[in-house]
This record gives sequence, structure tokens and C-alpha cells, in this order.
Amino acid sequence: MSEKPMKSWPERTPETAAYWAGCARHELLIQRCLVCGLHQFYPRLLCTACSARTLEWVRAAGRGVIKSFTIVRRAVSEAYAPDVPYVVALIELEEGPTMMSNVVGCDVGEVRIGLPVQVVFDDWSKDVSIPKFTPADRPVA
Ligand SMILES: [Zn+2]
Repeated sequence: MSEKPMKSWPERTPETAAYWAGCARHELLIQRCLVCGLHQFYPRLLCTACSARTLEWVRAAGRGVIKSFTIVRRAVSEAYAPDVPYVVALIELEEGPTMMSNVVGCDVGEVRIGLPVQVVFDDWSKDVSIPKFTPADRPVA
């Protein structure tokens, strides 16, 4: 039997269920604290600034800039071999939080720190979409 190797699929937890549901609708959701106004990512039970439990989900604009990145040229497993070379980047969102993602839709040589990017969604199934980023000057499919 020759099954295709699987990539790591996102695990839904009580903290992340709303986030992944948003991704499936192609909406990038982050949390905002109702007490101090902080936006945060990744999803947590408490505000990281004031420890309040009163967090709401808000739709992020999906725009940010690359804060740091690396180009992966050797796949971590067979599942990722078709993707190399690919970019893993820290994206600073317009709202403040930083998220780790891939930069797609351009040559890896075009990626640089400070590059404006926008979110795009990679649909892995009808329920699972992975947020990735593409240079902001590219048309979004
Ligand atoms: Zn807070």
C-alpha cells in the first residue's frame, strides 16, 4: 500500500476552534481583549497583557509585514518534499500580533524583511484552510 504521507493537520482545541472555523470561511480571526483592547495571536484563554478572560474574536485585515523568515530547502518529512524550497516567516499583522506562516505566490528570492504581505487561504479540505501570506502587490485568487 502506498499512501501519500500526511502533513501535520491543525488540531482543534476549545481555544482554537473559532480560529479554525474562521479560516474555513477564509476569515483570519484574532482575539481582542474587551478590558485593555490588546489584539493577540495565537488564541488563548486569557489576555496576555491584563489576564482578563473577556476576549472577543475579531476579523483581522489580513495585512502585515514580514518580520523575519527562513527558506526551507530540505523538507522536514516526505510530506513536505514537493514544497521545497518554501518560506517560513514571522508576519507582524497590522493589528499588532505576530504569526508564523508560509509566504507563497512568489519566488523565495523575492522574500525580504519588511515586505508587505496579505493573507490567502490554502484549502486542504472543506473544513480545513491554512492561512498563508503572499506579497501585497499580487492579485489574490
Ligand atoms: Zn487585556
